[in-house]
Amino acid sequence: MTTRREFLAKFGTAAAALTVLPGFAFAADSPVATHAISVLPPLPYAPDALEPFIDAQTMSLHHDKHHQAYVTNLVKAVGSDPKLSAMSVEELVSNLDAVPADMRTAVRNQGGGHANHSLFWPSLKKNNGAVPKAELAAAMDKAFSNYAGFQAQFTKAATGVFGSGWAWLVLEPAGTLKVMALANQDSPLSQGLKPLFGIDVWEHAYYLKYQNRRPEYIQAFYNVINWDFVTERYLDLRKA
Ligand code: MN
Repeated sequence: MTTRREFLAKFGTAAAALTVLPGFAFAADSPVATHAISVLPPLPYAPDALEPFIDAQTMSLHHDKHHQAYVTNLVKAVGSDPKLSAMSVEELVSNLDAVPADMRTAVRNQGGGHANHSLFWPSLKKNNGAVPKAELAAAMDKAFSNYAGFQAQFTKAATGVFGSGWAWLVLEPAGTLKVMALANQDSPLSQGLKPLFGIDVWEHAYYLKYQNRRPEYIQAFYNVINWDFVTERYLDLRKA
């Protein structure tokens, strides 16, 4: 386990820089933007932009109430610690072992919720049936045989989450792609993996329109993956 002192030594420079430019190591609209713990990033489109696949009321509540609650509760948990407060939420959830024990569960849950949703919004856009292209398509072919192979694994992972959680497409340290499911608001970042995008299968993400029909929501979701964003994120994270 990393000690708090080692943690701050590791991130002291970043934390100092982030004090000047709170939370944003990259421009806010960068596909690899990081996020201040205290700021709810704006929804980058109108709430009805994903209709009919995800309805406007769900998007408004999900962003304005649910995501805001993760931000509010994270600030409550770590707001009294100026060094932690100055870090991005992505740095925090990437280093849970180094967060003081009395804050760790809150950072895992509320910080995970903040980080996951901050990636969720920009990774969505009506795609008119588009599928991955170029380098991302090649990486998917390597990992899953083809796009249909990816879909099969992703659908299975999302369908199989018991209770609340997410299915993710992640970039592993070796540079390969993998599909995985994680419970609650656990972030792939906490396992040293880089999330490219995920599907939120908490009921709050789909229940108003789809009620108990999670499989229908998952099928609809393929129409709102912003492949341009995900491809740019893949290329940037692969370089990082
Ligand atoms: Mn959610």
